[in-house]
Amino acid sequence: MDKHNDAIILRFMTITTDIAIIGGGLAGAVMAVCARAHGLKTCIIDAKPSNIQSSSDFDGRSYAMAHSSVRMLKALELWDDLEKTAQPIFDIKISNGGVAEIPSPSMLHFAKYDLEEGPMGHMIEDRHLRPLLQNRLKDKDEIIYLDQTQVIGQNTGPTSTELSIKGGKTKVKAKLVIAADGRKSAFAAKAGIAYSGWDYAQTSLVCALEHEKPHKGVAYQHFMPPGPLAILPLNKNRSSVVWTETTENTETIMSLNDEAYLDVLRPRFGDFLGNIALAGKRFAFPLEMSIAKRLVADRVALVADAAHGMHPIAGQGLNAGMRDIAALTQIIYEAKQRGEDFGSTTVLSRYQEWRGFDATALPLALDGLNRLFSNRSRLLQDIRTLGIGLVNGLPNLKRCLMREAAGLSGELPHLMQ
Ligand SMILES: Cc1cc2nc3c(=O)[nH]c(=O)nc-3n(C[C@H](O)[C@H](O)[C@H](O)COP(=O)(O)OP(=O)(O)OC[C@H]3O[C@@H](n4cnc5c(N)ncnc54)[C@H](O)[C@@H]3O)c2cc1C
Repeated sequence: MDKHNDAIILRFMTITTDIAIIGGGLAGAVMAVCARAHGLKTCIIDAKPSNIQSSSDFDGRSYAMAHSSVRMLKALELWDDLEKTAQPIFDIKISNGGVAEIPSPSMLHFAKYDLEEGPMGHMIEDRHLRPLLQNRLKDKDEIIYLDQTQVIGQNTGPTSTELSIKGGKTKVKAKLVIAADGRKSAFAAKAGIAYSGWDYAQTSLVCALEHEKPHKGVAYQHFMPPGPLAILPLNKNRSSVVWTETTENTETIMSLNDEAYLDVLRPRFGDFLGNIALAGKRFAFPLEMSIAKRLVADRVALVADAAHGMHPIAGQGLNAGMRDIAALTQIIYEAKQRGEDFGSTTVLSRYQEWRGFDATALPLALDGLNRLFSNRSRLLQDIRTLGIGLVNGLPNLKRCLMREAAGLSGELPHLMQ
């Protein structure tokens, strides 16, 4: 009997589990895999049908996974399947371009030989990562997946919390609920957690391109006044493009046909990779920042975008989410080993302490970077030139930034060591 039939039968009963996870996207799925690896049972509740997440057309993004996130994927035995299609990032070149100009020569260069651990990260395509995770969830008896399902009520007692499911007779009883339901989590709001943040009035246009010449594993970031243009290496002669523009412009650009779309992109992209052609569908992601004011409430913890929705300017959102999940898993596991109630306020406060600062500081730092680069101000242009010169002239600072981007700084959870 497949998992979905199981789920239908289970709609008429109370499911008792260790952890309920709201949201079965990338973060929710990784959380369930981690919990399973630490002997914990989970029940995932997601609003969408699970089979659409496995479709290769579902989400055109490719993720720059930092070195530490790759270590975690290895620890979770997911890497062997991903490595075949992953592209190592050897070098990163950052330049200060201008709209309708060929991007200027690289001003800042992070090279692979500056980091002794190996490549700074790997590019992984959503169409490979998401179906792999969905399959791993189906493999395991310790994971129940309730798709097309939403929580309508929560009743928290001294040792567990009970979730009521919309339209059904099912209840889910868990010691802890983890909200992984994305930006401005509705579940977190119901648990009394407020958000701060704003709309960027920017949208990222995402597509994969085939090109004539090899990229040699180099990732490019060109800062343009409307927003950054990232050209990220994928396996074979392909690159993922994250082209950020004002939302007003992107509405017009998205309405163009494929050829006209490429005509607008070409002058920004340059010709250093030879002829380019689309290698799949085009996607648009409107950008906003949302930072949860707390990461925990009564028997509730937030992870990934539910905790911190950030600008994709440095490709850090999922990496930060992986760090949340690794830290929370470690805290829960160690508490369980000591015989503590892992859903208690005492245990959850350790998670708040560990991840609380990063969850606010990282989105704000990326926000600052976006403000500094996405404009035409002469003053800020001078500050940018000064800043880039400073990084180039101070090898220790450059190394620090590289280690930060590779996720190797700060207190690393066991799964990332
Ligand atoms: C253009 C772009 C490029 C990016 N590039 C990178 C990168 O290179 N590297 C990187 O690390 N990060 C990157 N990110 C960030 C990364 O994509 C996100 O951090 C990540 O996808 C968040 O996953 P999530 O599972 O937390 O949230 P989501 O993907 O939003 O998943 C939330 C899940 O919750 C479900 N859900 C929502 N509401 C409910 C509800 N009420 N009840 C039940 N279920 C619900 C949804 O159906 C969904 O399945 C990028 C982001 C963008 C926009």
